[in-house]
Amino acid sequence: MKIEGAGILITGAGRGIGRYLAEQFSAASARVGVIEKDPALCEQLRQDSEGRIQAWCCDVTDPAAVDATLQAIVDSGFDIDVLINNAGIIHSEPLVNLLSRTDRVHSRDNWRQVIATNLDAVFFVTSRVVERMLAKRRKGVVISISSISANGNPGQSAYSAAKAGVNALTHTWAKELGGMGLRFAAIAPGFIDTPSTRAALSEATLAKLQQKIPLRRLGDMQSIFQSARHIVENDYLTGSVLEIDGGLVL
Ligand code: NAD
Repeated sequence: MKIEGAGILITGAGRGIGRYLAEQFSAASARVGVIEKDPALCEQLRQDSEGRIQAWCCDVTDPAAVDATLQAIVDSGFDIDVLINNAGIIHSEPLVNLLSRTDRVHSRDNWRQVIATNLDAVFFVTSRVVERMLAKRRKGVVISISSISANGNPGQSAYSAAKAGVNALTHTWAKELGGMGLRFAAIAPGFIDTPSTRAALSEATLAKLQQKIPLRRLGDMQSIFQSARHIVENDYLTGSVLEIDGGLVL
């Protein structure tokens, strides 16, 4: 698929990787729309892009809000050729804590919230967007941002399970809907140099981590964009999970 003129809808693109993808695809002459739950980030994006990027404020974990927003997007004349499921929350908590029972453990509420954002929303938003692509007989591409934590990362039960689920959905949909002209792929980043990574990890942890990464550095957001562009442009690519991790294996 050609990027120029393609309608690309990105979830959770008010900041971080999603916002970078929105700006880069817009610079590459795609029509870019964003679904973001934070109204201030939506407004900021509209202003900074001088209206070139359209932003709809919506929480992707709320199915009724997703339905209403997708209807508003369609009513505005924005045709979706590519969906990028990027909205996600990174969450770490141990499963049990035998030594200090007062310390935090993985609560059921946090489990639900992480699964709702990182997995349920991918399922629901994709099902609704794909329905519209098929009704309009459009070829379409769905890219979901997974993580190398899908291989199992200690201290990240819900997050790892959600991202493994995203990979499974990608393989499933590629097989189920390939015959209808739709392609599905995931990008599984390792540790990317984003404000959220720097907020979550101390300088000391980051330094130790970089020693474990074969390329000895955090990834940059440009490498995620390069992969997303490749997925959109390569019409024989489907069902793949591209690991962009500097060689780090969890
Ligand atoms: P981030 O926290 O910087 O940005 C996430 C954005 O999504 C925010 O603007 C947030 O408001 C929005 N969002 C969150 N929940 C939402 C919801 N329910 N509805 C709508 N919008 C919502 O995160 P990031 O680091 O840019 O990560 C983006 C994606 O990449 C996530 O799926 C994450 O799991 C994945 N990822 C990131 C890294 C990394 O190193 N940063 C590594 C692996 C995977």
